[in-house]
Amino acid sequence: MMIIDILTIFPELVRAPLQQSILGKAIERGLIDVRIVNIRDFAVDRHLTTDDRPYGGGSGMVMKIEPLVGAIRRVRSMDPPVYVVLMSPQGRLFKQEIAWELSRLQHISLVCGRYEGIDERLRSYVDDEISIGDYIVSGGELPALVVTEAVSRLIPGVLGNREATAEETFADTLLEYPQYTRPEVFEGQRVPEVLLSGNHEAIRRWRRQQSLYRTWKRRRDLLARAILSTEDRQLLAEIIEGEKEQQGSGGSI
Ligand code: SAH
Repeated sequence: MMIIDILTIFPELVRAPLQQSILGKAIERGLIDVRIVNIRDFAVDRHLTTDDRPYGGGSGMVMKIEPLVGAIRRVRSMDPPVYVVLMSPQGRLFKQEIAWELSRLQHISLVCGRYEGIDERLRSYVDDEISIGDYIVSGGELPALVVTEAVSRLIPGVLGNREATAEETFADTLLEYPQYTRPEVFEGQRVPEVLLSGNHEAIRRWRRQQSLYRTWKRRRDLLARAILSTEDRQLLAEIIEGEKEQQGSGGSI
C-alpha cells in the first residue's frame, strides 16, 4: 500500500476530495493511505504561529521554518522511508512521467506552502519540488490534491480492472481520441458512423487516426516527441489530405 502524506495548515481543505469517487474508493479499499498532517501541531510557540513577517521587509507573510521542519521530521521518522516533495511554483513542472515516477514509491509527503511563500531554508529539508503549472494559486493544497489524484490512479487496482491508463491522454504522448455515449443524435450532432459499425478493426484505426490528428492540430510539440509507426504516418497523412480537400467544410476539432 502506498502512503501519501499531505502536510498543511488547512487540513479541512484537503479532507473532502479524498472521500469521493476514485480516490475515496482507493483509500477505502486500502490501496493507498492518505494521511493529513497539520503543520500547526508542530508550532513551537504559545500562539501556535505558522507565519511571520519577512526579514528585509516587504508585503505579506512567510511560513516559519520550525513547524514545517517539525512536521517533516515526524513523517521521516515513519516507515517506510519517505520522499518529501515541496509544492512550489518554482519546482519542476508536473507531468505524467513524474506521476509514474512517484507512483513507484512506497511513501511520499507533499508539503503545502501558504502566504507569500516559505522560509528559503526549508529547501534543504525536502527531496524534490513540484509545480503544477506556470501560474500561482494561494496554497499548496490544491496542487497536492492534483498530484495525489494523478499518482493514485496509476497504482495497480485503483482503476479496477479497466486498463484505462495505457490508452489515456499523455500515456504515449498523444492526446486521446473523441468519446461518445448515447444518444446517437443530439441536437443534430451525430455520433461518427464507424463507432456504430461494430467493426473493431475500423474502430481501432479511426481512434488511432483521431488521436494523431488531434495531437497534430492541438499539440504539435507532443507529436514531435511521439514515436510513430508506419501505419501512424499513413493515418495522419490520409486525414490531413482529406482535410485539405474539404477546405473549411465541417471537421471542427
Ligand atoms: N510568492 C511565491 C508563491 C507563493 S503561493 C512565489 O512567487 O514563488 C503560496 C504557496 O502555494 C506556495 O508556497 C506553494 O506551496 C503553493 N503554490 C502556488 N502556486 C503553485 C503551483 N503552480 N504549483 C505548486 N504549488 C503552488
